[in-house]
Amino acid sequence: MEYTKLTPDILQKLREIVGEENVLTDAALLEPYGHDEVTDPAYHKLPEAVALAENAEQVAAIIALANEYRFPVTPRGAGTGLACGAVPVYGGLVLSLEKMNRIIEINADAMYAVVEPGVRTSDLQAAAEAKGVFYAGDPCSGDSCFIGGNIATNAGGNRAVKYGTTRHQVYAVEAVNPQGKIVRLGARLQKQSTGYCLEQLVIGSEGTLGVITQATLKLMPLPQYSVDLLVVFPGAEEAIGTVQKIIGAGITPTCVEYMDNITIKSVEKYLGCKLQGSDKGNYLIIEVEGVSEDDLDEKSIALDEICTANGASDVLVADHDKIWQARKAFAEAVRAESLIVCKEDVVAPVDQEPLLLAEILRLAEKYDLVTRIASHAGDGNIHLNILKRPEEDYAEWERRVEQNQQELYAFIYAHGGRLSGEHGIGFKRKRLMEEFTEPEELAMMKAIKKALDPNNILNPGKIFDIE
Ligand SMILES: Cc1cc2nc3c(=O)[nH]c(=O)nc-3n(C[C@H](O)[C@H](O)[C@H](O)COP(=O)(O)OP(=O)(O)OC[C@H]3O[C@@H](n4cnc5c(N)ncnc54)[C@H](O)[C@@H]3O)c2cc1C
Repeated sequence: MEYTKLTPDILQKLREIVGEENVLTDAALLEPYGHDEVTDPAYHKLPEAVALAENAEQVAAIIALANEYRFPVTPRGAGTGLACGAVPVYGGLVLSLEKMNRIIEINADAMYAVVEPGVRTSDLQAAAEAKGVFYAGDPCSGDSCFIGGNIATNAGGNRAVKYGTTRHQVYAVEAVNPQGKIVRLGARLQKQSTGYCLEQLVIGSEGTLGVITQATLKLMPLPQYSVDLLVVFPGAEEAIGTVQKIIGAGITPTCVEYMDNITIKSVEKYLGCKLQGSDKGNYLIIEVEGVSEDDLDEKSIALDEICTANGASDVLVADHDKIWQARKAFAEAVRAESLIVCKEDVVAPVDQEPLLLAEILRLAEKYDLVTRIASHAGDGNIHLNILKRPEEDYAEWERRVEQNQQELYAFIYAHGGRLSGEHGIGFKRKRLMEEFTEPEELAMMKAIKKALDPNNILNPGKIFDIE
């Protein structure tokens, strides 16, 4: 793909749009915008400049300028992504939304919030709670990622079992389309059947179909009663096999998370603490909400019975803060072990998850891979981290990782799964997306991109390539 470089003339026009102080060109200032949370330098690329927009009109003017001069624009939130979606693979301009960070409205009576894209997820959660309402989106990176990034990636996280992913929290989005027009998509309605559902097309499009400049989000009543159970299973397959039984029993837990034993030990080492039952096996962390103490007790007893009948050795009431600190430290603990990690984000139907886990373990042995596994088990989403040993040759390790991917993805697609449950495709999984997606489905996606972005200006080189 041929694009125009950001000439002094273009940079001057950008300064006129966002102001002198909001255009960065100094190499040291550009560096943080050349990567996301993928630490492997093979996936880093510096932009030619960064523009920090302060409102939708500025975003629209930048996209219009990009179309006029034909330079690529990569939208960026907090840069916590794990698929290199915010990495400017063709150079050009990174458009940062970090300064658009206002919570415009929290309406506790009508239960909605209006926010700009640069609002930190945990800040929205806290602001909602302060008004007695609840924002259900909860990725493990919530203390650092932005709502705009969550919407662009359709972020999942821990509470998706009960509340769904980010797309289920969104009533409407305001976005700048790839041709530089501000569009308002969706409405604050419980239902509608009024043409194409365009807001849902932009959600999860990883910044390729629009720059999100505002969102109207759903809020809910604050859960009144909840408990976290820590269930220890000697066997991995028993642990994962229990999830479908919990769901089939009519208990809708808020979260069901899985951590294998070696990952639990890794987190213990990283946090410098001892976790309950860590010598006995693998964890299911189950959070459940109730309408009263009695309701919660009944659900806890039912969960205990199901887990014990399926091979659990311990069912414990967990310290909420401690157990979630441990679960959320997974990524950092792995990073402390190795900076070169292949992070798989595979997803299968929940009833197929035991088979998927068994296949993951079989392939890891076959290809002699060091793995750490945690999963959003309640929605079939397994995070498989494959670590390079310090003494291993990079190219040889990568060859085995790729062989593993080919076999694993073939298995997943044959069992109704997909290659990403929540992190997205970005730049990192593009080749595999092209290989494993049904040709007609891929052709429809490309046709939509070409129709909306004929100059391929907005986040090019992500999800798939346009010929
Ligand atoms: C420790 C850790 C834990 C994590 N846990 C989870 C988890 O539990 N669940 C989960 O889903 N993810 C998780 N992630 C991944 C990541 O945090 C999410 O993908 C998050 O939604 C990215 O938000 P961001 O603001 O950092 O976006 P960025 O990384 O900046 O961008 C991600 C993508 O969104 C696009 N984008 C960003 N903002 C906009 C916008 N305003 N308009 C249009 N496009 C935009 C970018 O172009 C890019 O394609 C985790 C990451 C880390 C490091």
